[in-house]
Amino acid sequence: MSVAQYYETMEYGPAPEADGEARAWLKTHGAVFEHFIGGVFAAPQQGEHFATFEPATGKTLARLAQGSAADINAAVAAARSAQPLWQRLGGHGRARHLYALARMLQRHARLFAVLEAIDNGKPLRETRDLDIPLSARHFLHHAGWAQLQERELADHLPVGVIGQIIPWNFPLLMLAWKIAPALAVGNTVVLKPAEYTSLSALLFAELATQAGLPPGVLNVVTGGGATGAALVDHPGVDKIAFTGSTEVGRLIRQATAGTGKSLTLELGGKSPFIVFEDADIDGAVEGVVDAIWFNQGQVCCAGSKLLVQEGIAETFRRRLIRRMERLRVGSPLDKAIDMGAVVAPVQLERIRSLVEAGVNEGAQRYQAATVLPQEGYFYPPTLLWNVHPSSTVAIEEIFGPVLVAMTFRTPDEAVMLANNTRYGLAASVWSETIGLALDIAPQLLAGVVWINATNLFDAGVGFGGYRESGFGREGGREGIYEYLTPNAWSTRKQREKPEATSVAQHNAGFELPPIDRTAKLFIGGKQVRPDGNYARAVRSPDSMQLGEVGEGNRKDIRNAVAAARSAAAWSRATAHNRAQILFYLAENLSARGDEFALRIAAMTGTTIANAKAEVDASIARLFSYGAWADKYEGAVHAPPLRGVVLAMNEPIGVVGVACPDEAPLLALISLVAPLLAMGNRVVVVPSESHPLAATDFYQVLETSDVPPGVVNIVTGRRDGLVEILAEHDDVDALWVFGSKQASATAERLSTGNLKRTLVDHGFMTDWYDGSASEGPILLRHAVQIKNIWIPYGD
Ligand code: NDP
Repeated sequence: MSVAQYYETMEYGPAPEADGEARAWLKTHGAVFEHFIGGVFAAPQQGEHFATFEPATGKTLARLAQGSAADINAAVAAARSAQPLWQRLGGHGRARHLYALARMLQRHARLFAVLEAIDNGKPLRETRDLDIPLSARHFLHHAGWAQLQERELADHLPVGVIGQIIPWNFPLLMLAWKIAPALAVGNTVVLKPAEYTSLSALLFAELATQAGLPPGVLNVVTGGGATGAALVDHPGVDKIAFTGSTEVGRLIRQATAGTGKSLTLELGGKSPFIVFEDADIDGAVEGVVDAIWFNQGQVCCAGSKLLVQEGIAETFRRRLIRRMERLRVGSPLDKAIDMGAVVAPVQLERIRSLVEAGVNEGAQRYQAATVLPQEGYFYPPTLLWNVHPSSTVAIEEIFGPVLVAMTFRTPDEAVMLANNTRYGLAASVWSETIGLALDIAPQLLAGVVWINATNLFDAGVGFGGYRESGFGREGGREGIYEYLTPNAWSTRKQREKPEATSVAQHNAGFELPPIDRTAKLFIGGKQVRPDGNYARAVRSPDSMQLGEVGEGNRKDIRNAVAAARSAAAWSRATAHNRAQILFYLAENLSARGDEFALRIAAMTGTTIANAKAEVDASIARLFSYGAWADKYEGAVHAPPLRGVVLAMNEPIGVVGVACPDEAPLLALISLVAPLLAMGNRVVVVPSESHPLAATDFYQVLETSDVPPGVVNIVTGRRDGLVEILAEHDDVDALWVFGSKQASATAERLSTGNLKRTLVDHGFMTDWYDGSASEGPILLRHAVQIKNIWIPYGD
């Protein structure tokens, strides 16, 4: 077309970005890439390679090394030998390196942006303006954490060697999100990029080494799912950090269960985009474009489920369709397109078949009229209107440019529809009434909520999910803690012998017997008989029978979980209210301190003085969490935009707690009190050998205004009850202290709803040492952080 014709039609002309440098880089490697291990490219030990394709053309782009277990082994060995030196370099030394990495990314920004667009199929406009600058920001922000580490994080150590597995949708950005925090605080890394999109990771590793990053600090092993699995299984890896599908996340949870490896999972989502009647409609329509057609909708937090209030639904639909008509799909290197190519044929097929399923289930389909390129994997921006909340497309993550829409009448209905998903990654709320938006945000079960905005990210703001969207956070202070381990926990010792569970024969003579006392279970604020009507004897170390407690079973746990679930008001109670009750518990425990001390001495065989010390420490601990209840607060972040982000510490919900045998009262209180302080409701399995401190505690609970259902106690065989709690999909988190076996069981069986687990792997905590068992060290696990983005101004 001539310029005059462009004026006439107002059509876009092609605006291609030159790709010469990126292709020249591929050529310097002969378009064949090896792994990057110990600071050099290293051929795969089995000599195999596989092809990687260019999504916009379907043509082969390069060949990549196929990683085997032997390659992973070499990479882990390189990371292991570099780790102590990297740690010893100190915060300032590492800050210099991370700063150099940020600068390196800025210097080579265009090369990375073009390579990423070619390899992934995403528009250059996005790689240039988002992926690369955000990656650089991540390194700069974390250079700051390295610099501040010795001051701000002095009571923590690096975890060690970290295995990181990333997906294909934001290849370089995910690399930055993973490696920047890990390296900043002294860990070394073995990274497995996605097989579709490994090139920017290899370019990064090469340029990082040229920028002075020491050998072995960052290692990249390319390959498929089996390569990832070999990394997960490697015994020399201390932690796995994974981003990808919920399905693979579950496999990894199972594979790492009981190994002592720590784990963070950033998984899928089906994030609601809620538009209220009083929203700025044009603003919200533009928001939809960014929510679902950004990166071809291949975004874990894509606003893929549109909920529009009925009164504006028709207007919204018309304006959205009008906007869709102007969207352009084409070559990722064309600077004037809105959407590029989908990453691979298999993804394209999945999108097609899910859209067909949606239409077959009654949805109306609208697609942008854009002309799709002849070759490559392209799919048009798509809207499915009138989708039923139970239809496949309303439930499944499509991971493509497909928006499903439904309407709602009231704010309550909007919240219900928004939360009607197993995921919980993100949500957008659109309303010009800030009171309404801020009322809705805390009710949404999602780790990130954007108000009148969508898809905003920053290195200083945590990102991560609730529920089956995974656990752990990336970014911000909370993201840094994912790569650290408390000093106080690094010196814990394994319990020497399995905890006593068997009960010796009682040989007592004819002395005056104590008055029979059979403790029941404590469920929903009441003392109730165990469902099975079995009791277990509790004996002193010299085999005296001290009493009997109920033998809890599956049904008791079910009732306890139901009671905890219905005590949701506790999670909404004010921190002041919770603090008051924790102090009151301390007061009432103190009033009966001597009685508890006698009981502890009888059960454990310790001296009365020691038992008194345990009661005193328990009282002090309750005071401590009474204090923390209104002081362990969130934060206000100031990302680079006009606005604020509120990082709110929210309760996790219903938490199962299994207590160890040592310090039976103090350990129970040390575990339960932080959870209560943060607004959780608990189902507690007390010490199996010494449960009477817990059953005596019922009366303290009853007299301290603890609402029914907030604390439920089920006595019995601890490891069996842990199994039931782990399998229960209405339990949101599980803390297991006391046995290696129970820790493994808890992790392995928690995959149903991907509950958060905090386990001791059989290592003994010193419950008298506040640095190991009191305060933020546990409070951090008692909350999940929701980040609410509130941009302001026009
Ligand atoms: P996967 O979860 O399969 O892949 C993510 C990463 O894990 C890749 O590096 C992959 O390797 C690797 N991997 C695959 N299997 C294993 C395993 N058993 N053990 C260890 N690592 C493994 O996601 P896909 O790329 O296959 O995408 C499938 C779906 O996942 C998408 O349709 C989408 O719904 C969702 N997804 C979600 C993402 C998110 O950000 N939450 C990101 C990407 C996908 P390889 O690349 O070789 O398969």
